[in-house]
Amino acid sequence: MAPVPPRLEIIDLCCAFDGHQVVTDVSLSIAAGQVLCLLGPSGCGKSTTLRAIAGVETPVAGIIRIDGVEVCGPSGLTLPEQRGVGLIFQDFALFPHLSVADNVAFGLKGSRAQKRARARELLERVRLERYLDAYPHELSGGEQQRVALARAIAPKPRVMLMDEPFSGLDNRLRDGIRDETLALLKEEGTAVLLVTHEPEEAMRMADEIALMRDGHIVQRGAPYNVYNAPVDRAAAAFFSDIN
Ligand code: ADP
Ligand code: MG
Repeated sequence: MAPVPPRLEIIDLCCAFDGHQVVTDVSLSIAAGQVLCLLGPSGCGKSTTLRAIAGVETPVAGIIRIDGVEVCGPSGLTLPEQRGVGLIFQDFALFPHLSVADNVAFGLKGSRAQKRARARELLERVRLERYLDAYPHELSGGEQQRVALARAIAPKPRVMLMDEPFSGLDNRLRDGIRDETLALLKEEGTAVLLVTHEPEEAMRMADEIALMRDGHIVQRGAPYNVYNAPVDRAAAAFFSDIN
């Protein structure tokens, strides 16, 4: 039997703006149900990497495969909406004219009742089922972000790309929402790429950490190993804030 390909595989991805390379030879793979944290300081190229995988940024080189199928490479580019990828970032946007339930159900297939049931299930997970029929402007910023999380998860993407999606939530709620969201994605066999600049978040959430600096992956491994055996002084300093 042929081995199962990783859910997400990236080989030597390079991205540039105006001839200036900001992502260089990034290679990663994530299995179904695995969380990989792309960790690094602001400006190191995390969001650009994520956007290239989502298909909203065109890389200058590299190959991206999802479940073994090339979506970016020599054979061309697959449209973002045909990649089976979910994208959630800090600057979420809900449709203001749609109810919370319709926002979450947007783009789902099935009958109206089925879509509403799925929306309710997800809103329960982010503890907002009471707002099923409310409109986005009636919710706080943090609540809107939780609706955006539910909406991104609803279509069961094979790969979920998350760009600091928890930074906008207040501390009291953040841990619970974060743990539950990732547990749900794991249950559904989604490969998760979670971008963060916070070592603590990566240590807590990751099955594997990829440490990024100046467009390169400088170290990759289990959180415990990356923390205990940093590749160099800069990596050690980056982790030194954690108590
Ligand atoms: P991170 O998410 O790690 O903070 P980014 O991927 O957003 O980093 O940015 C990496 C580098 O690319 C930065 O130097 C940033 O200024 C630059 N950059 C990002 N987006 C653009 C853009 N649309 N046009 C030009 N430069 C960009
Ligand atoms: Mg960023």
